[in-house]
Amino acid sequence: MAQPQTMPHAAQPAVSAAGWLERLAQLAARKGLLLSNVRERDPRDFELLLASAALFLPAQQLLTERDANEHLRRFLQTAGAMLDTDHVELRRWLADLGFIHRSDYGTDYRRGMLPAWLHDAAAELDAVQLASAAETARAAKAQERAARKAAWLARTQDVAAQALAVPPVGVGEVEVIEQPPPPREHGIRDEALMRLAIDQAHNAWALGEVPVGALVVRDGQVIATGFNQPIGNSDPTAHAEIQALRAAAELLGNYRLNHCELYVTLEPCAMCAGAIQHARIKRLVFGAADPKTGACGGVVNLFAEPRLNHHTHVERGVLAGDCGELLSRFFADRRALRDAAAAG
Ligand SMILES: [Zn+2]
Repeated sequence: MAQPQTMPHAAQPAVSAAGWLERLAQLAARKGLLLSNVRERDPRDFELLLASAALFLPAQQLLTERDANEHLRRFLQTAGAMLDTDHVELRRWLADLGFIHRSDYGTDYRRGMLPAWLHDAAAELDAVQLASAAETARAAKAQERAARKAAWLARTQDVAAQALAVPPVGVGEVEVIEQPPPPREHGIRDEALMRLAIDQAHNAWALGEVPVGALVVRDGQVIATGFNQPIGNSDPTAHAEIQALRAAAELLGNYRLNHCELYVTLEPCAMCAGAIQHARIKRLVFGAADPKTGACGGVVNLFAEPRLNHHTHVERGVLAGDCGELLSRFFADRRALRDAAAAG
């Protein structure tokens, strides 16, 4: 028997019914799949999805166009809900592949031939099994997502609660220094908030950006976060500090952030130092020093110039080791990738 002309591969290893259901379940956990993309990326997935749709048409039955559409719509609501398409496009693909046949007058439809690699498994499967495999996969995915969210929230609230239980250091205090103060450990509060900034830095890394994270805190609440993303945003000003300042100003409806503290994992550059001063940030806390572009002592110190800065108290070196290590790891990783690419 001739296979449909549009078949992308000649000989494919046959799939079992269980293998079919498993692959459908994996695909079902996704969203907004375009058939044309699937076809380009993975012709096997493409055929498996369309064959799944074909199994929604009862075998050995002539169907009116209306009935055929009804079955295909049911597929798109259940087993095929991850597809971004409608029954018309779907029907066209199915007819092109020969998975459904249209009568000469174009009035009746029936299920056609499936490719050899799907043929045996198809005989063991029906619409109900396909729909339930997809639903189960989607429910599991939703549950996993909910659990991750709950864990994240618990962790954040925990850190934030610990952080906020300790009053800020060096804010609004009248310093009467009679003796040189003992070398001070960084406050638990600063460290806990810096850890949240480090979380933000990880977001940057996940997008392939230099991992720097920032947050704005007001009245003991984290009101805005930001991470470095100049590449992704095609924006040379999209440093973590600027992102967080923008979000905070928008939230407060005020370009002055008088009562706010800014936490950032890396010493701010001149641009960010300027923005911090324009925003009248009350207190800046940063982690690792930046000997290349730091504007808080690394290269220059714009905060030490009283003609420029009347507002911002600077606290440096909070979790500097952790913040710096993240950057070192990122650059080492990038070098290794580059070397691997160069090696072929
Ligand atoms: Zn900057």
